[in-house]
Amino acid sequence: MDYNPDLPWYRRLHWQVLCAMVIGVVIGLTPSGGFFAEYFGWLGVLFMRLLRMIIVPLVVFSIISGVASAGSGRTVGRMFGKTMSYYLVSSFLAAITGLILFNLINPGRGYPVTDTGAEPPDLAVPESFRDLLLDIVPTNVLGAASTSDMLQIIFFCIVFGVAVTTLPEGPRTKVTGLIDAFFKAMMALTRGIIKLLPLGVFGLMVTLVGETGLRSFGNLIQYVMALGSGLFIHFFITLPLLLYFWGRVSPWKHAMNMREPLLVAFSTSSSAATLPVTLTTVREKVGVSNRVSSFTLPMGATVNMDGTAVMECVGALFIAQALGAEIGFMTQVVVVFTALLASIGAAAVPSAGLVVIFIILGAIGIGDNPEAMLIVGAMLSIDRPLDMARTAVNVYSDSCAAAVVAKWEGEEGIDAEIRG
Ligand code: ASP
Repeated sequence: MDYNPDLPWYRRLHWQVLCAMVIGVVIGLTPSGGFFAEYFGWLGVLFMRLLRMIIVPLVVFSIISGVASAGSGRTVGRMFGKTMSYYLVSSFLAAITGLILFNLINPGRGYPVTDTGAEPPDLAVPESFRDLLLDIVPTNVLGAASTSDMLQIIFFCIVFGVAVTTLPEGPRTKVTGLIDAFFKAMMALTRGIIKLLPLGVFGLMVTLVGETGLRSFGNLIQYVMALGSGLFIHFFITLPLLLYFWGRVSPWKHAMNMREPLLVAFSTSSSAATLPVTLTTVREKVGVSNRVSSFTLPMGATVNMDGTAVMECVGALFIAQALGAEIGFMTQVVVVFTALLASIGAAAVPSAGLVVIFIILGAIGIGDNPEAMLIVGAMLSIDRPLDMARTAVNVYSDSCAAAVVAKWEGEEGIDAEIRG
């Protein structure tokens, strides 16, 4: 889908983005950097507007199609419960790991935006956890959509998706067929917009470097370190522990059996594109039945994104800190919670994680901050390698879920040996 190994390097998106970034930085550094920033800045603004344009429909169709694809009936209901418990726990642990690393590294401290004279924003956070929960339930779904209140939209989509699974077969297949078709159309639109990434990155880089010079890159390195360590810990410590304690599955054998899908995830940056390989490998090498794998994996590819959850958490807090905002306890609670929801809402295509970061920024009241847009732009320019790593974590967590749920369903021989 997104990956064609025969393309020459200059037609590959990540090379194009890299070149756009370098050209943007060089032009921004020239003595007339400020002038170019004004002249080309609109390209970045346009790209950001396009991204924000697709968030609501993308998230809506992604979640409903993911949740509703569960099917119906008693056994499905039971497997749905087990699978969702695994997904929620693993994504929550991922977001917490991101939070801890953020607090250890503080990547946004001293970001140059803070010395351009811009006032640090006040973060909007609910007074208490009860308010946070109450705020999530929309009183008017269309109202929530028109104000892009993503948490309310996500809440509605999850319960709607669950309701769809309870319908009799006739209406259920009609609704899921339609939603699936819309979801595919939104994925196509997203891929189209992502192709404009080089132009957007160029515009954003010229503006960023033209206005603040190269200093922001020091902070970006710290952001990469925080995110990279979070992904590393989740992949090498948390998921193996879940596998071992929940499923009694050997983490070593599981990792060895999953080599291929991990490599494909790494090179495509898309869990959706990797899904066919994940499905075959989990059936043939991990040894999970068709029944469990065809249930857990497609749903996991859409709603279970641990790597993305780490990124949302570190990324949104990084931006808030870079803007000089005060990050209190309640802000961190909101960020972890929304990071979890944003990872559920992210589509399984390259860079989707950075599209849904606006959900969290919106939840803490900096969704429209122009400075925040510039920082997201800077993050976009270096996102490709990070996206490769988090997609591998996303796919790996799906496969761990398949193995654990299969064990919970009483299946034998899961990862009994290293195959192939
Ligand atoms: N590329 C990721 C995936 O497909 C999503 C993301 O951008 O975080 O799993």
